Amino acid sequence: MPRQSSLSVETRPIVKLSPRGSGRLRNGHIWVYRSDIVSSDGVPPGAVVDVADERGKFLGTALYSSASQIAIRMVSTGKVEDLPGLVRKRIQAAIAYREQVVGETDAYRLIFSEADFLPGLIVDRYNDLLSFQVLTQAMDSEPQRQTILSELSDRLKPVSIVERVDPRVRELEQLPGRASGLALGAKSSTVFSMNGVRFHFDALLGQKTGAFLDQRENYAAARRYARGEALDVFCYQGGFALHLAQQCSKVTGVDSSRSALEVAERNAALNERELEWIEANAFDLLRDYADAGNQYDTIVLDPPAFARSKRNLETAMRGYKELNLRALKMLRPGGVLVTCSCSYHVSEADFTQMLMESAGDLRRPLRVLERRGQSPDHPVLLGVPETAYLKCFIVS
Ligand code: SAH
Repeated sequence: MPRQSSLSVETRPIVKLSPRGSGRLRNGHIWVYRSDIVSSDGVPPGAVVDVADERGKFLGTALYSSASQIAIRMVSTGKVEDLPGLVRKRIQAAIAYREQVVGETDAYRLIFSEADFLPGLIVDRYNDLLSFQVLTQAMDSEPQRQTILSELSDRLKPVSIVERVDPRVRELEQLPGRASGLALGAKSSTVFSMNGVRFHFDALLGQKTGAFLDQRENYAAARRYARGEALDVFCYQGGFALHLAQQCSKVTGVDSSRSALEVAERNAALNERELEWIEANAFDLLRDYADAGNQYDTIVLDPPAFARSKRNLETAMRGYKELNLRALKMLRPGGVLVTCSCSYHVSEADFTQMLMESAGDLRRPLRVLERRGQSPDHPVLLGVPETAYLKCFIVS
């Protein structure tokens, strides 16, 4: 009988790269696009493959996708004989790293895909619950799912593990439809805390669930500077606003999503704080407030990613400038602006330039108090610029 295991050395498929493809790997990236693949004949979806350069020289082991433009994601520069074993080890390393860098919180990203050498897997912890998402064919395979679930539950003993499904990702990966739901246990909601502030988490409520864990340390930083009257624009469930409320005399949170504001209000009650929540389009509200001459001591801007691709960078920058200009206009002398962008396509240099132009238009000198990024449970992998996306500037 022929051997069928995709893990056996003899039968493992080989993917051959063009010089540009192997050049990318040599420069430290771990993705190769389909257009840089010379041959991948007969490679099944989600297979573990050997990767070779155009002359056949072995470059390492990768996970293959038959659907994505990102055809291979490297998992090792060596030969991987036992993928489940490797996945287990990497989950353990990811847990050990969080034990080192995460404090004052029971909510953090436990596994950040490429940056934890587990491409296609995201796991977040919210107190006693874990939430996971698989993004690629290889991670979606039954053996990998079982490995992931058993390793997570053995190591961390969560009460429940929930799967969060992004239908668009599954469609792009040509994976069968699947519903979000409990993969282990029965509890789907909990309360978690970050920097001493408490939040509700309901894994099965609405399409967008969870917190912006990448901002966790920026919340604490913003709180260090916050005072007086504060405005948190794009407040979602109150991440910044609730931190600011510990320092400020009055905090107003603004978001266009009513359901997010409902959770924000429940979070305020949980922390025994009174905040004002306004359901509005931030662009309209900032224009009206700035025209009306409203003034604040602390303002936070944390909009959704405006630049979804390089193509709309210019429009995105106009959006950022409009928001920042209006916010600066409303900032009292000596006030503090915490301004963020989570668009990977907007570089730190672009963002700095935009802030400079906004301040220049108002002839207002601006000092950079802190130039921050994502919290360290979202590590940045050198050579993979896509893993560094969040900018958070604190200026005054
Ligand atoms: N600061 C939040 C995260 C913000 S995410 C935190 O730390 O938790 C971006 C938010 O912007 C979402 O809640 C979304 O509902 C909101 N949003 C998107 N477009 C908007 C608009 N035009 N006006 C107001 N809110 C908007």
